[in-house]
Amino acid sequence: MLIVQKYGGSSLSSPEKIKTIAKRIIERYDSGDKLVIVVSATGDTTDRLRSKAFNLSSNPDLRELDMLVSIGERESVSLMSIAINSIRPGLAQSFTGSQIGLITNCNHQNARILEIKGDRIKQSIEEDHISIIAGFQGVSTKKEITTLGRGGSDTTAVAVTAALNANHCEIYSDVAGVHTTDPKIVPDAKLIKELNYDTMLEIASSGAKVLKDSAVEYAKRLNIKISTGHSSTGYIGTIISNDILNKNKYTALVYNDKLSYEIVENKSLFSTDISKIKLFQSYENHNIMITEKCSNNDKQCYSLTIVGNGIKTNGELLKQMYNTIAINADIIATELSDLKFSVYLSKPLDTTTIKITHSLFF
Ligand code: ADP
Ligand code: ASP
Ligand code: MG
Repeated sequence: MLIVQKYGGSSLSSPEKIKTIAKRIIERYDSGDKLVIVVSATGDTTDRLRSKAFNLSSNPDLRELDMLVSIGERESVSLMSIAINSIRPGLAQSFTGSQIGLITNCNHQNARILEIKGDRIKQSIEEDHISIIAGFQGVSTKKEITTLGRGGSDTTAVAVTAALNANHCEIYSDVAGVHTTDPKIVPDAKLIKELNYDTMLEIASSGAKVLKDSAVEYAKRLNIKISTGHSSTGYIGTIISNDILNKNKYTALVYNDKLSYEIVENKSLFSTDISKIKLFQSYENHNIMITEKCSNNDKQCYSLTIVGNGIKTNGELLKQMYNTIAINADIIATELSDLKFSVYLSKPLDTTTIKITHSLFF
């Protein structure tokens, strides 16, 4: 079978972790599978690279920012290949996004994949190598280096799976899979064994880092099953596909601390990257716009979202959620649909409030 595996930065943050994963990759190869590996930048490398740019300019040129942050994945592909080749010489071959022909549009920092030519990966597989591919990066139709938005290596993995017509896409991180909330905030969070694309898309776009929203959207469009698992054990905790019916009214509680807000004029809507806008609400004489956080100077805001199925039918519980949050926080906006209820806040929520809110639903 041809398997695409992706390892995220949290799983590559030390030489020991890289060596452990390298050994597991070789064991899987020895069991007879053909492997293509996508990796992210190690640990907090992308954040550190971004800070270097923001130390020089509050508004860095986006072409140059892409050139800078793409270094992170280039470092990790070579480190992973070196680790594999130190055990089995010549087995691994690293490639950048542009080397595999991952072509994107020209939207620097948030580019969309248009096509993956993939000839070099196919040749590498035929020659019995394991290809190690830099996630998150591509090359635009204008031949510039682009990146796919934060967490974009997940999208690379799904797109490579589609381009190679591979049998599986396995995404490994430092948690066993998708939980009812972030298990690092609420250790009692329960693992969700199966999810359909639409529910996972709501969870991802509400801000759960565990999978990037554009990766789920890509998987849904091309009907690619995603397995998410723990990088250190190889245990697969959650399967995401079309075949699963979401039976639960409440699926996950998502806390997002990567948002910013502004009171703006209506026309600001058209001068902002629309794909980054989460909410635009008009009140009597002002508008509030909530977007993904782009720079350190942005006025930060936060959201807590319950994702589910027909959640409006239990208004009582949603009121309890609102009241629990309102005791400790300044609510600046809310958003309600049949699939989610989001509360936006101007200050961070404390862990206890997130735990209490989680226990209301799960
Ligand atoms: P990687 O570096 O492997 O890409 P990420 O940090 O991007 O990993 O995503 C994994 C993280 O997602 C976990 O460490 C966890 O803190 C966070 N997370 C947020 N919400 C959830 C959730 N509902 N289920 C599992 N993990 C979650
Ligand atoms: N290294 C990139 C980021 O930190 C991409 C990724 O992790 O998937 O956003
Ligand atoms: Mg990630």
